[in-house]
Amino acid sequence: MAQPQIFNIQKFSIHDGDGIRTTIFFKGCPLRCKWCHNPESQRFSPELLFYSERCVGCGACKAVCPHDAINERMEPDRTKCVNCGVCVDACHYTAREMAGKFIPVREVVRIALQDTMFYEESGGGVTLSGGEVMVQDLDYLLDLLKQLKRRGIHVAIDTCGDVPFERFEKVLPYVDVFLYDLKLMDSKKHEYYIGVPNERILENLKKLDERHAAIQIRIPLIEGVNCDEENIAATLAFLKQIHPVKVNLLPYHNTGKSKYERLQQGYADEEMATPSKEWMEATRKRFEDEGYQTKIGG
Ligand code: SF4
Ligand code: SF4
Repeated sequence: MAQPQIFNIQKFSIHDGDGIRTTIFFKGCPLRCKWCHNPESQRFSPELLFYSERCVGCGACKAVCPHDAINERMEPDRTKCVNCGVCVDACHYTAREMAGKFIPVREVVRIALQDTMFYEESGGGVTLSGGEVMVQDLDYLLDLLKQLKRRGIHVAIDTCGDVPFERFEKVLPYVDVFLYDLKLMDSKKHEYYIGVPNERILENLKKLDERHAAIQIRIPLIEGVNCDEENIAATLAFLKQIHPVKVNLLPYHNTGKSKYERLQQGYADEEMATPSKEWMEATRKRFEDEGYQTKIGG
């Protein structure tokens, strides 16, 4: 299997599990959520990002591109660009950047251990996120998990759940909590908005619960997609079958829109909107009334 690519290591994260955390973002995801705010996380291989607002038009990148893949506006022509990264070094204005690089396990662990004191004081730790962690090379993943656990670090995995369950079984002994995304209960709608049906995702969640895994449910809430009564009622009914330790309700925001421009990709947000604060609070209360510790936000 290809080497895992990491596109970001975010320190002092407070939205990816409990306490202060270091979040490792892996590149590559089996889903294609229409609202994804990290489009650079979707493909498995490294990709060139172009920040047009920083470009001064000097042409240094165009001069060195071996594939004639830069147009007059200095944008990468995605039909020709092979993401080789040659133009990145030529740009002195940080207008070009590669998303995704292989970082050896020992280096990831070294970076993660720099903030041990903050983890201890805040009840935090390390979160492996993405993209999707659970589709990454298992040898790499297990090595990373074991090394973190050996050093007493609390580890969370943020997952979409759409992988063969055997993968979860392998990592289970080394994971303290799963941050599990629950997006849409109707499988047809799930396929329309996300690209895959939801049966395996729901089945894996039940199986993890049967294995007594600690689970925090994360529900992105997008007006126009999944805030309808039918979906909320179906979500609450499904949750009765499992035992989540917490529920996080994540209101949609379109702050990822500029990232699509950096990849020369379109972003179809016409049918998506942020739910009102009042609706979010009423929904939070609804989940809380069912007995779930519920928070708005990560
Ligand atoms: S990444 Fe490589 S192919 Fe793509 S625009 Fe830059 S130099 Fe050209
Ligand atoms: S080298 Fe950088 S600043 Fe110069 S044209 Fe290319 S992207 Fe723009």
